Amino acid sequence: MAGGRLWASLHPRARSRLLIDLAEAIEERLEDLAALEALDTGKRFAGTRGWDIGNAAEVYRYYGGWADKISGELLPTVSGQRFDLRPEPAGVVAALVAWNFPFPCMAWKVAPALATGCSVVLKPSERAPLSAHLLANLADQVGLPPGVLNVISGGPEVGEALVRHNGVDRVTFTGSSATAQRISESAGGLFARSTFELGGKSPAIVFEDSDLDRAARGVFEGLYDVAGQNCCSTNRVVVHRSVRDELVARLAALGRDWKIGDNFDDAVNQGPQIDAAHLDRIAGYVRRARESGGSDVLGLDVQPAPWFAPVLIENVALDAEISVEEVFGPVGSLYTFDSDDEALEIANASAYGLAASLWTTSRSRISRFSRELRVGTVWVNCFGYFDSVAPWGGRGMSGSGRELGEKALEEFIEWKTVVEVD
Ligand code: NAD
Repeated sequence: MAGGRLWASLHPRARSRLLIDLAEAIEERLEDLAALEALDTGKRFAGTRGWDIGNAAEVYRYYGGWADKISGELLPTVSGQRFDLRPEPAGVVAALVAWNFPFPCMAWKVAPALATGCSVVLKPSERAPLSAHLLANLADQVGLPPGVLNVISGGPEVGEALVRHNGVDRVTFTGSSATAQRISESAGGLFARSTFELGGKSPAIVFEDSDLDRAARGVFEGLYDVAGQNCCSTNRVVVHRSVRDELVARLAALGRDWKIGDNFDDAVNQGPQIDAAHLDRIAGYVRRARESGGSDVLGLDVQPAPWFAPVLIENVALDAEISVEEVFGPVGSLYTFDSDDEALEIANASAYGLAASLWTTSRSRISRFSRELRVGTVWVNCFGYFDSVAPWGGRGMSGSGRELGEKALEEFIEWKTVVEVD
């Protein structure tokens, strides 16, 4: 890890420059990266080109801006003695990511880690590893010292070996809660020095005072974009009983216009699911929900594999499998409420706590629900907005720690106190 030591001792301004150069190199290869990502994941090329790659470039640029602004302080001690607080890079970071947003997820880890002076061993998902290798090429091209950003391929066994390695100082993981649990068990005390960005079961709450056209579009997009393979998918739709029929009619109409097909066709809204095993898993959830009395309110045509048409299941209990487990496909469940208290109870009835969206024109509802929802992010009359400066992360089974923004830097810094007494 000689490259790692060199990186840590490099002047922060030089680290800053290299991160900004990397952002520019990514932008120059935006089309190639977007195509690679769409090929690997089945996501819409229009989406990977329109958001994923540009978001990642912006995140490298943002943390390039931070690299030379991380400083310590001389503490105003009670005793009057000299206590010098210094930030140091945590060391070697193991970064493990999921397959649904590979390029941004990698950037959210790699960029702040490199900005603080850490070196990184990056393990992309075995289901979508290609863009990580092109990232490594681009890092090499802009002059990142060898050994600073290392990419390794493989599945769970490689991931396990990585997080157990005693040369690793920090683990930053994006993936399922089940894997996070295994990592924390197999790696002993690692949970304490890890960042976990996990799954969700996020509610979209639609009140009777909302702009229903806008709410329906937001709910539909929140649920079915990326074929529902989105950690923050708002897959629990919680609607006031008085507008349930109107909302369902609008969602069904949007569903009829929703084009499913080739993910390289710009007119298509939804591409295939990631692979056959995942498709089977999704179908299993829907079958079991139907067998236990659930009914689909959208009624869209069944699609041949590897596609799966949007489904929204009603008449399921709050503790039914479909209500509590992350399906990670174009599958939601629908609940009605009569009072604000009930809406809040349903929305918070989840072990996950990643995000929520609210659809209302009432200031007092926005104020109360944004305070009382147990989630990391609340979107008000919108869905899916991110910004490099805004921390992202969840509560409960959705994880611990934060990515993005200044807060993410903390995950990769060790604070050292140096005391000098004359
Ligand atoms: P996953 O947990 O199966 O795999 C994630 C990564 O961990 C992969 O690189 C995988 O190879 C590795 N891995 C698997 N088993 C391991 C083990 N025992 N030890 C070490 N590493 C192991 O998740 P996935 O199916 O790739 O991704 C989907 C999940 O990711 C969903 O739950 C989704 O909600 C979540 N996700 C969360 C966010 C977020 O920001 N919160 C973003 C994207 C995806």
